[in-house]
Amino acid sequence: MAINSATRAIKKMSYLRTNVLGRKRETIEQEVVDEEEVMEIRTSNTGLITETLVEREELINECLELYEKAPEKFNHLQKDSHKMFLEYWLNNPLPSGFKSLDASQPWLLYWIGNAFKTMNPTWLTNDYQKRILDKLWYISPTGGPFSGGKHQLPHLAATYAAINSIALCHNLDDNREINKKAIYDWLISLKTPSGAFMTARPVGEQDVRGVYTALSIASLLGIVDSKLTSNVTEFLTRCQSYEGGFGGCPNDEAHGGYTFCAVASLAMLNALDKVNIDALLSWCSSRQTKEEKGLNGRSNKLTDGCYSFWVGGTAAILEAYGYGVCIDKDALKQYILKCCQSEESPGLRDKPGTQADFYHTNYVLAGLSICEHSFMVRNNSPFDFVATPLVPEPEVEPIHPIFGLAILDVNNFINRRGEPSMSNLSMKV
Ligand SMILES: [Zn+2]
Repeated sequence: MAINSATRAIKKMSYLRTNVLGRKRETIEQEVVDEEEVMEIRTSNTGLITETLVEREELINECLELYEKAPEKFNHLQKDSHKMFLEYWLNNPLPSGFKSLDASQPWLLYWIGNAFKTMNPTWLTNDYQKRILDKLWYISPTGGPFSGGKHQLPHLAATYAAINSIALCHNLDDNREINKKAIYDWLISLKTPSGAFMTARPVGEQDVRGVYTALSIASLLGIVDSKLTSNVTEFLTRCQSYEGGFGGCPNDEAHGGYTFCAVASLAMLNALDKVNIDALLSWCSSRQTKEEKGLNGRSNKLTDGCYSFWVGGTAAILEAYGYGVCIDKDALKQYILKCCQSEESPGLRDKPGTQADFYHTNYVLAGLSICEHSFMVRNNSPFDFVATPLVPEPEVEPIHPIFGLAILDVNNFINRRGEPSMSNLSMKV
């Protein structure tokens, strides 16, 4: 009966292919005359050729060619050339096209700094570390909460990237202090009755990204308490979709980025057992395609290098908590080395045919680390992670799948911080 009433409501089905949405093909519209016809469309659309199906065929061909013909050097990570790519952009002004990242300045610091350290912990020199802190304190002179750029409002995503960037910088004897008290009060002000967090005040989205960034900030600073975490697990469990992955909010479509945020948050809350783990494992496995070998972020979407971390990191968290390995790490490593590196330019990319960028360079490297290590958590503590190399000489450092930082950097930050406490109102960087 429910299906019948739903079909009656549908009088016109549109497959949006408009130029307005940046797509290449025209809108296909089909008038539906009666319910029988709707059922027929629903069950007989396997012959429909979509833009994604065409693009996937092309991608498979490109990947297969690379697996056969990629130069031998792509059996390894071309670290020196990726370092050159990152270093150039640390030392030169960004082109005007980057103005769209004006509110994401701490992210640029984190992506570049973390990519450096994932490849080689010594590459982020004291000078680079000082420049990272200088930039963050220029943007937010009070030491937090942090904004995405000068004279902008504090934002959860910017503060997450800022704290992670500070965690990369632990060689300095620096007097700057992170204002833990101000950050805690601000986090509480962002909390909603449903258990989510607004990304900013007075207006901000409320979804699992806000939950993850808030919990990661608070966990690293040692300021988690029951006021901050009340109702959060309940909100997250409502975000698991029928597919097994997580959407951004209840009743949303499962997505790799949101799933990472939800699963990493549940791990920090020690509440992974509150969700359907079998469905989650199955959804993660389904993100990996046989031909391309990489991971996609949603059903019927193309493989993309950054999901090596968003979905790969989710898989590593589940592995660490004893739920087994749900992705083929060897296959993913091949995708990363052969399809995300390119002869044309340094840095790491989403897929063949796309340009390398900082975001993909960082998350593809983090994904490579997941392929090269196995993970285990001790005492159910997100701060007691152990990574064991799966290969004799890993190309990259062991990454902490919950925080997206090298395990070494997480441990160093926690040691500097001391025991979790609000009694110290600030923390030396
Ligand atoms: Zn991507």
